[in-house]
Amino acid sequence: MQPASRMDTACGANPNLRLTEKIMATTANEHLNDWLRDAHAMEQQAETMLTAQAERLEHYPELRARIVQHIEETRGQQSILAGILTRRGIENSVLKDLGGKLAAFGQGVGGMMTSDEVVKGAMAGYVFENLEIASYTSLIGAANAVGDTATATACEQILVQEKAMAAWLLEHLPQITAAFLVRSETPGLDAKV
Ligand code: MG
Ligand code: FE
Repeated sequence: MQPASRMDTACGANPNLRLTEKIMATTANEHLNDWLRDAHAMEQQAETMLTAQAERLEHYPELRARIVQHIEETRGQQSILAGILTRRGIENSVLKDLGGKLAAFGQGVGGMMTSDEVVKGAMAGYVFENLEIASYTSLIGAANAVGDTATATACEQILVQEKAMAAWLLEHLPQITAAFLVRSETPGLDAKV
């Protein structure tokens, strides 16, 4: 056993440095795992918020249709992320997901308090899509940094959908707002949702 020990020292130039590298690599993967869990919770929050919006919208069919389309996309994103979590051996955090759902519920209730709900909702939607864009952009960087190209590729596919939704909301926000103003000035018309 003595010769083996001597050989270890001879082969590894600096055992402490190798140990540090090992710890750093593990930490990077753990960060990525945390962020993937966060993304999964974020998509559950997204589904809750989008569903609440779609259910309440009555007088803005174009906006409602785009939201319904994005609910389907969001469910697809959830299963992509669930697949990544499984492949990477990540346990899903029930607590975090629950936290996201409660936050989404709070935001839904908050939006209902305003008379200009459709405008505030479209604005909040745009903000949320941009949070998603930032999250996936960061995730792609993290996945590439640890060499998980499958995760990077999957996140790039999701990112395309988030950018499209954000662009649609920004592009249609003036029309949505104008339609709201017309309805709110017309007696007998409900403008709120
Ligand atoms: Mg999403
Ligand atoms: Fe989205």
